[in-house]
Amino acid sequence: MLKYYEALGIDNIPVALKGDQYIDVIFSGDKSALLDNLRKEIGNCTRCKLSKHRKNIVFGEGNPNARLMFIGEAPGREEDIQGMPFVGEAGMLLTRLIEKMGFKRNNVYIANIIKCRPPMNRDPEKDETATCRVFIERQVEIIKPEVIITLGRIALQSIMYNPALKITSVRGNFIEYKGIPVMPTFHPAYLLRNPKDKWLTWTDVQKVMERLRLIS
Ligand code: URA
Repeated sequence: MLKYYEALGIDNIPVALKGDQYIDVIFSGDKSALLDNLRKEIGNCTRCKLSKHRKNIVFGEGNPNARLMFIGEAPGREEDIQGMPFVGEAGMLLTRLIEKMGFKRNNVYIANIIKCRPPMNRDPEKDETATCRVFIERQVEIIKPEVIITLGRIALQSIMYNPALKITSVRGNFIEYKGIPVMPTFHPAYLLRNPKDKWLTWTDVQKVMERLRLIS
């Protein structure tokens, strides 16, 4: 039956709950609608203590059909104010990298492991990551990118569920998350502090460009 609706181009059906309340049940592969639904599910989240201090939840943004997804750690000050990922100084460097790869920022998808800013930009705590990681997992599941680039140690360890992974030993080599190739590289904030290592990230992303057949 759902296939019949899909063939007609209908991708959601309003279903009546008790009383007059309706919800839309989405059944197609419409990634944008699925992401919107996930954002609604997060709502005005108070699942962990980070909700007490945040200004905005930073869900993530970009092309729901992106071939490439970037995963960072957590929003900083500017991201918290604007409600968008990577819009501060580190974000400007990330944007330059994305453009150097031949993409526009809105061609790719950018999200963080943690959706709310940790106070004073401290590292996310275990309980915060444990609570929030389900959402990045769902975002990856919906977007199904061809390649993921993790930015920095925390994104790498959190998505891979492995606190022993060291960015210095794994960066530059593809690993796998649920069948998706993952390229770990440095966080742009690290690169702002250590510009001499920018070329290493450039070699990492060139491997991604090869994998996406953007260069040979
Ligand atoms: N650092 C991150 O890891 N994510 C952001 O969105 C901004 C800075």
